Amino acid sequence: MDLKRFIRDIPDFPQKGIVFRDITPLLRNQEAFKEAIDGMCELVSDREFDLVVAPEARGFILGAAMAYKLGKGFVPVRKPGKLPYKTVHEEYQLEYGTEQLHIHEDAIEKGQKVIIVDDVLATGGTAEALIRLVKKLGGEVVSLAFLVELSYLEPRKRLEGYDVKTLIVY
Ligand code: 5GP
Repeated sequence: MDLKRFIRDIPDFPQKGIVFRDITPLLRNQEAFKEAIDGMCELVSDREFDLVVAPEARGFILGAAMAYKLGKGFVPVRKPGKLPYKTVHEEYQLEYGTEQLHIHEDAIEKGQKVIIVDDVLATGGTAEALIRLVKKLGGEVVSLAFLVELSYLEPRKRLEGYDVKTLIVY
């Protein structure tokens, strides 16, 4: 199945000049969603790991489905003020200003192997911050899996040395 057919381009969202890849048509199609999750699980099938770590909001949808299918635990990474227990955080640059990502301080045990999952790999800034968060807790990132890669933004330059897997490349 050509999964690109289920990804919709939205010009000028969330701001002028950005073409947003909208994955909601894929999520609402039962065959496309299943093929996407199965395909992303296949991408990491050669890896051994304990946990799936994913950021809100779209990372939760894909990451939780993968964790369920693969029989792994799921760890949510969230924006400030959302997680109820003690957190550690990392900051990353946005075009204007900075953003924080938080994780519960006991979410990953030292030495645990994790994969990072998100919907879109764009500049790679979010993925870099997620890697730093996992490392801060003593975890090891064995792979990163994304539904969509925007290769023209050259995100892989920022993720050198990591196993980066993507299902759909623009
Ligand atoms: P990055 O940090 O790699 O520049 O951006 C990736 C993050 O922003 C991901 O969490 C992703 O959900 C979101 N994002 C950036 N661009 C897009 C896009 O075109 N479509 C979607 N669905 N998410 C995007």
